[in-house]
This record gives sequence, C-alpha cells and structure tokens, in this order.
Amino acid sequence: MFNRSRRNLARWFTFSMGSILIAFAGVLYYVETVDELKKLDLLLYRKTRVMATNVKYNPQTDTTNLENVPLLGSNTRLLSTELVYARWYNTQKQLGQFFGSPGNEQLMLGSGLQTIKSDRPWIRQITLPVYQKQQLIGYLQIGTPLTSTQNNLAKLRLVLTIAVPISLGIIGIAGWVLAGIAMQPIRQAYSQLQRFTADASHELRAPLAAILTNAQVGLITPVRDGSPQLFRLEKITKLVESISTLVSNLLFLARHEGQFASESLQQLDLSNLLQQIARDYQTSAKEQGLNFTYDLPSQPIQVLAEPTLLTQAITNLLTNACKYTLAGGEVKLHLAEKLRQAIIEIEDNGIGIPEADLPHIFERFYRVDSERSRNTGGFGLGLAIVKQIIEAHGGKVTVSSQVDRGTTFTIKLPAQR
Ligand code: ADP
Repeated sequence: MFNRSRRNLARWFTFSMGSILIAFAGVLYYVETVDELKKLDLLLYRKTRVMATNVKYNPQTDTTNLENVPLLGSNTRLLSTELVYARWYNTQKQLGQFFGSPGNEQLMLGSGLQTIKSDRPWIRQITLPVYQKQQLIGYLQIGTPLTSTQNNLAKLRLVLTIAVPISLGIIGIAGWVLAGIAMQPIRQAYSQLQRFTADASHELRAPLAAILTNAQVGLITPVRDGSPQLFRLEKITKLVESISTLVSNLLFLARHEGQFASESLQQLDLSNLLQQIARDYQTSAKEQGLNFTYDLPSQPIQVLAEPTLLTQAITNLLTNACKYTLAGGEVKLHLAEKLRQAIIEIEDNGIGIPEADLPHIFERFYRVDSERSRNTGGFGLGLAIVKQIIEAHGGKVTVSSQVDRGTTFTIKLPAQR
C-alpha cells in the first residue's frame, strides 16, 4: 500500500517536473534558433550594403557599373563571409552579372529574406533593392549556406537529447527519495495504529477467555431449566464468543499486512485443497437446507500459498454464501485455470448485494443494512480478511451481484507451472 502511494507520488513528481523540463528545453531551442538566424541575417544585410555602396550608376547613360562591387566586379576585394552566390538584377528584374550559381533569369520576388531548403546545405538568401539618389537602380541578391547555423543547432539538439533524459532520470530518483521522506510520518502513524489494534486485541483476549470459562462453568453447575440465571449465562457465553471472534479477526488484520514473501509460501494443489473444503461444507450446507455443488478439475492446479490462510479466505466466502442464501437455494464452488491464473468462483442464488454497497463490501466493518444481513450477527470483517489474504498471495478478489438473484465472488491467483 505504502509502496504504491510512494510510486504514484514519485511518478507524478517526475511527470510534472519532466513536463516543465521538456517545455523549457523546447523554448530554449526555439530562442536559440531565432537568435542564430537573426545574427546571420544581420551579417547578410551588412554584406549586401557593402556591395550596394560600390555600385556606380550613370543617370545620363542609364548604366550601372559593377566593376568595384565585391564578388561581381573584377576590381574588388573578396568579402570575408562565405557566400555561395551574388546576383545583380536590373530595374526590370532581369539577371545581369552574377557570381556562383546564376539562379533565375527573372527575379521572382521583390525583396526580403528567405531560406532555400531545396539545396543542400540550406541557403539563407537576401534580396535588396539598390537606390541611388532615391532612384531604384537594380536589385542585389546574395546567398550564404546555413551550415554553421545548422551545425550549432544540431550540437544544441544533441546536448538537449542527452541532458533531458539524464535530468529526467535524476528527477525520477529525487522524486522517489522525496516520496519516501513524505511517506515516513504516514507509515509511522499507520504502524502505530496497527500496533495499537494488535496490542489491544491481544490484551482483550485473556479477560474474554476468563469470562467465557466462568460463564461455561456456571452453565455446567446445575440450575433449573428456563431459569433467568441459565438464560443470562447462555447470553453471556454467546456474546463473549462473538466478541472473541471479533478480537481474533482484528488481531489477524493487524498482523497480516502486506504481501507474503515467496519463501514463506508453499506449493500446493488447489484442486485438492478445495476438494477437502467442499467435503466439509457439504454436510453443513445440507443442514441449512441448501443445495451445495462443486465442480473441480481432475488435474492439479498448483499455486504458491499459505494453506491455512487460503482455506480461511475460501471458508469465509462459502460461509457468507450459505449465510445469505435462503433454505432451498444453491451454492456452487468452481475452479478452473485460465491464462496461467487459477480462478475460484463461489456462486450463490441468495439475497444478493445492492449495487450501491458493492464498492464498499471489502472495507473493514462494512455491512449491508438489509433485514436479513442484520440478523446474521457478523461484524463486517469477513470480506476484509478475504481481500487481505488474497492480495497477500499476489491475487485479486472481485464480486458481482444482483439483489434477489445471487452473488458470485471470484478469486484469481497466479498459477505455477
Ligand atoms: P459479515 O460478517 O457481516 O458477513 P462480511 O465482511 O463477510 O461481514 O460481509 C460484508 C457484507 O457483505 C455482509 O454484511 C453482507 O451483507 C454482504 N455479503 C457478503 N457476502 C454475501 C453474499 N454471498 N450474499 C449477499 N450478501 C453478502
């Protein structure tokens, strides 16, 4: 129970912190991408401006001289940045001089920045109109490979893909440790409560046994039949017997918490165990006017179990089936193996359990408040004990029921090969 809560706490902690971490990594990557592109665009813009200032325009002859333009003219210094092409378009957007690949004859766009992904590596391109004395004299277009930007981003991606899972692992471990620390006081409070229940039940046993013995001795001493003294002694005996059962059940619940270690369990044949229980039940069911049948496979079904406790769980369910079925009714015990699971079904056609009570009937001290249940004198601990025993064996117990139609309890236990 505590381990499940601890796992849940750790899982939610990892999930929430992990989501924040992944969102943070995403934002970081986005900001870095935008920043890298901005830096490159600024550089491209500066290069284009340097080139544009070297364009000479003669308004009389309406000609442009690109001799001094870096990359395009013969009379030039090379620009330091790696450019894959530089193109000059006239005012009609027709290609003039160019360096590197010529591109389109006709300039398609007006101006602006573009990433060309059709080429490998990707190319960042800028196209700018060039003015002289406020008159458009042509367009300059240059392109630079995005290799270094892509490399920087690939490096960042690599760092993030390594760092994020490692951080998630660290968060998971931290979550597990923190959940353990958070569970500590709850665990302590719970074990104190368990210890108190166990101690109180244990202490109550001795005085109850003494009262019972005294009452029984009183019953042996000769008294007149029907006398009030005899009636009182009988009543005391009955009450003490039922309180003793309650105390034993409480002690049982307090002592058998958690799942059994497999070394403490023994391999046993469930068909055989159920056969013995069924034989014992046949007579008591007959006495109550019930028709008790069982259907058990002839081949053995092996399970790892504590025989006394497993017998108690099945007996509790069979006792309930007989208790809550009217005379003339039927109680069936069925065993089968499916998908490496031993499946025990205890079915009756008795009074049934209302749907609203079904989710609660495995809780301690929960009793269905029906006319018939009230008269059976239980304490509502039988099913809590069944659940605790079956879960301690790594199994599961479920119920399906319809009022006035009957109830079926199903136990599933891991079968051994
Ligand atoms: P109790 O000692 O009262 O029988 P249990 O824990 O064994 O306590 O059962 C809890 C409640 O579940 C009972 O009060 C009863 O109303 C209901 N119940 C259990 N088994 C059956 C059954 N086979 N048919 C109808 N009701 C049942």
